[in-house]
Amino acid sequence: MPSFVITEKCDGCKALDKTACQYVCPNDLMILDKEKMKAYNQEPDMCWECYSCVKICPQQAIDIRSYADFVPMGASVVPLRGSQDIMWTVKFRNGSIKRFKFPIRTTAEGQIEISGGFNPGKDDLDSQALFTEPESLGLDNIPTPKK
Ligand code: SF4
Ligand code: SF4
Repeated sequence: MPSFVITEKCDGCKALDKTACQYVCPNDLMILDKEKMKAYNQEPDMCWECYSCVKICPQQAIDIRSYADFVPMGASVVPLRGSQDIMWTVKFRNGSIKRFKFPIRTTAEGQIEISGGFNPGKDDLDSQALFTEPESLGLDNIPTPKK
């Protein structure tokens, strides 16, 4: 089921130009009602339940009714992000609670090597070849059709 906003918890990201959920949604689904200062999912049918908005919301104001293959039927699952890890709290229908904590980085913050050490030039960016090509195809260069 698509994401929905728990309006009592949403503070509209304190009137930033763009709310966190708007910023992160890959489908541009989240929108802010500027009068009420509450966000909402403007096109639930288009939501693929990626959980990005749920994870980024600083108020834990977004929820998704998860499918049974992810959490048991009727349970709720709430993520809480830290700088090093993410904690998932699963609340079952019978009220019992389980928490799972996972690290979210293996490289210290700010230390990641941009582009993984590969510094593409303009020719690389314009090329239709994949990163490992043409070597991975056993070729010296990618054949191009004659005009
Ligand atoms: Fe509201 Fe959370 Fe969206 Fe911010 S990220 S506008 S608090 S739902
Ligand atoms: Fe967008 Fe993913 Fe949130 Fe759905 S779950 S509104 S696709 S960020």
